[in-house]
Parts: sequence; structure tokens; C-alpha cells
Amino acid sequence: VFVVFEGGEGAGKSTQVTLLSEALREQGRDVVVTREPGATDLGSRIRGLVLNKVEDAPSARAEALLYAADRAHHVATVVRPALSRGAVVVSDRYVDSSLAYQGAGRTLPVQEISWLSSWATGGLKPNLVVLLDVEPGVGLTRVDSRGDGADRLESESRAFHERVRYAFLDLAAADPKRYLVLDASRPVDELATAVTTRLAGLLSE
Ligand code: C5P
Repeated sequence: VFVVFEGGEGAGKSTQVTLLSEALREQGRDVVVTREPGATDLGSRIRGLVLNKVEDAPSARAEALLYAADRAHHVATVVRPALSRGAVVVSDRYVDSSLAYQGAGRTLPVQEISWLSSWATGGLKPNLVVLLDVEPGVGLTRVDSRGDGADRLESESRAFHERVRYAFLDLAAADPKRYLVLDASRPVDELATAVTTRLAGLLSE
């Protein structure tokens, strides 16, 4: 089973990834926690390239290809092997992040990003995508207080982050069976319960 967490900046994805993986391990399951970009050695080098200083940022198409390269390697060397042995894979970001950030955010054609992503992954789709929906003003304030990457994020306009948010929501609305959309401003433990409840159905299938 392949579970992905998506959402804008400061949505609390990493907290929910940790809580879910702990809950699954307590049930005795084999769990692989991973993320994009940067889960592999190659990926962490790519992460350094895409999340570079603002003045060295790659052009939009170069950035899209770098994320695709990270994803191709991640799927081939981490996600598929884990799924093949029956593990539950929990990833912090996947294809939807590219559709939202490189597509809607950078205004590259979403169909082309979708095609590129599907080529990179060999068509691997998650069983469940948990979208932690956050209003950009709230999320960016959370990231600001954390201090990581604040400069880079502030270099994007508010409109960029709004486009990203609505792209995620549109993807979820188009395929409700595969998505769980949660208001990220709800208490952490309530969110975690909603995720484990939804996943329980999938794991018992
Ligand atoms: O989720 P995490 O904080 O690791 O993401 C790092 C940054 O990478 C985010 O701020 C997001 O803006 C960016 N990103 C992106 N396109 C992706 C994935 C992440 O722009 N496909």
C-alpha cells in the first residue's frame, strides 16, 4: 500500500507522516517512510540543486526535469522495492506536488507535467493521497517561525501559493476515492485519527 501526504508550505505533513508511521509500526507492519525531493543519495544532490539560493534557481523546465529525475530514481530504488516486499510506503510529497508547483505554480502545462511524471514513475499511483489543506498565509507563517527556506518561499508571490493550493484541491476533487482532504488547522491528533481511520479500510482490503 502506497500512501502520500501532500500540501502547501507549513501544512504539517512531516508531523503526520511520523504519527502515521508510528501507528502502523505499533500494528507490527513493515513501514517505509520516505519523501520527495531528496530520499536517495542522488535525490539529496538534486534537492540541493532545486532548493538552491534564490539567485541560482533553475529555470522552470529545468526544475521540472530535476524533480522528475529525483522521482524516477526514488520510485525505482525505494518505493517499488518496498511495495514488492509488501511494505506500507508513506511518502512526504509525490506527483501531485509537481502538478501543483511546477504546473499550476510555475504555469507549465499541467498535462505535460502529468505525462512527464507518469513516464518517470512508470505509472505508479498511490492508493491514498492525504491532502493537508492550509491557507497560504497560515502555512507560510508557520514556516517563517521555523526559519527553514523562508527566503526562498518569500520570493514566490502570494498568487503562486494560492495557485498551488487550488491545484491540490482540484486534483482531490477530480478523484475523491483516492483522496482524503483535511483542514490542516485542526488539532494534530484529530488529523492523525482521521488518517488512520481512512487507511484502516484500505489495509483490510
Ligand atoms: O516538503 P518540503 O518542505 O521538503 O518541500 C521543500 C520545498 O520544495 C517546498 O517548499 C516546495 O515549495 C518545493 N517543491 C516544489 N516542487 C515539488 C516538490 C517540492 O517546488 N515537486
